Amino acid sequence: MNYFVGYRCSLCKAEYPPSAVTYTCPKDGGNLDVWLDYDAIRRSGEPDVMLSPEEPGLWKYLPLLPVKDPGKAGTALRSAGGTPVYSIPRLAAGLGLEYLWVKDESRNPSASFKDRASALVVARAREINASVVVTASTGNAGAALACMAAAANQKAIIFAPRTAPQAKIAQLLIFGARVLLVDGSYDDAFDLTIKASQEFGWYCRNTGYNPFTAEGKKTAALEIWDWWRKIPADMNNDQRWGPSIDALMRHPLNVFIPVGDGNIISGIHKGFRDLAALGWIEQIPRLFGVQAEGSAAIANAFYSGSETIVPVSARTLADSISVDLPRDGVRAVRAVRETRGQYLLVSDAEILAAIVELGREGIFAEPAGAAAYAGLVKAVGQGLILPEDPVLVLNTGSGLKDVKAAMQAVREAPVIEPTLAAVRLVIQ
Ligand SMILES: [Zn+2]
Repeated sequence: MNYFVGYRCSLCKAEYPPSAVTYTCPKDGGNLDVWLDYDAIRRSGEPDVMLSPEEPGLWKYLPLLPVKDPGKAGTALRSAGGTPVYSIPRLAAGLGLEYLWVKDESRNPSASFKDRASALVVARAREINASVVVTASTGNAGAALACMAAAANQKAIIFAPRTAPQAKIAQLLIFGARVLLVDGSYDDAFDLTIKASQEFGWYCRNTGYNPFTAEGKKTAALEIWDWWRKIPADMNNDQRWGPSIDALMRHPLNVFIPVGDGNIISGIHKGFRDLAALGWIEQIPRLFGVQAEGSAAIANAFYSGSETIVPVSARTLADSISVDLPRDGVRAVRAVRETRGQYLLVSDAEILAAIVELGREGIFAEPAGAAAYAGLVKAVGQGLILPEDPVLVLNTGSGLKDVKAAMQAVREAPVIEPTLAAVRLVIQ
């Protein structure tokens, strides 16, 4: 059963049936929200009846997605999402927090959050018989599209800046996508991709521009909701938590999300809004957006109290969130404003320190993913998060994707002669 009934423009509120538009609002270029028949979903049953617990990944939430089941299309496509949540008690203690978790998106098939969006776009591409799917990418979105496309035997073309980290470019090539490295920024690649898709009739996955990317990303919110609602039962089975369950559930969950073009945080907000429209969630978590100081166009708009996104000249080592003109900025501002969250800015030095901190808990985050934790450190310092506030941090990608950045966060290992004397010398 598919409950996809149309699109609604986030700016002018115009509504369109599914077949009328493909990307953004024809009137004003606004990002389109996918609209579902919420009444029909609600009438169909309670969440535990509607959802498919046997599915390992995001397809568990198929009734809330605007696509049909991709069927037997490859394992990678089927296993996107369903990422684990870890508690990180030592970091929690260091920050003086009682409850702190990381949702580790590096466990997706191509090792980043972007697999969620690409799984949905590739499923949509199959439905509309698109011969080629194309995307601009700083690396992760492209790797995700290349991975999902390979699994579905779908042709994919990726435009990435030539400065994208080598590991991400390697992924694109290994997954068999056609790769074009643009001598320019992510924003240059983005604009070129749209022109090329119009010229050659390709289906464009560009983040935010294609309304299905946010629908894929919203599945993280559905998983967070599913995990959070089961916590009291899980805690009851775990004696260590004891009597603090009631205290925990009195506070809203606080979710820290790295923000570049704004599509992850707007997609997660959409997931929670869908759940609220269904009456399946009582309280939407507070969303905290974290941007790099050198790529802060959305935070700037938030601080100025407006929704006007003024482009910046982005400069940060966190390539995944390095964006001049965010393509989903308005909804990203609203995601934080409407959930009573906050935007935080972090420096590259703070991001590198966060990579090391997360590493001490066994989590290897890429710079953008670590930025979310760096934002939490700042929020605690500013008194925005109190000791009893439960916090979930989203690590959006694996540190293996950008080893060069990781090596800036640590000291080089010493090279020694193969003798005990040499060992004694260095361990003193
Ligand atoms: Zn519009």
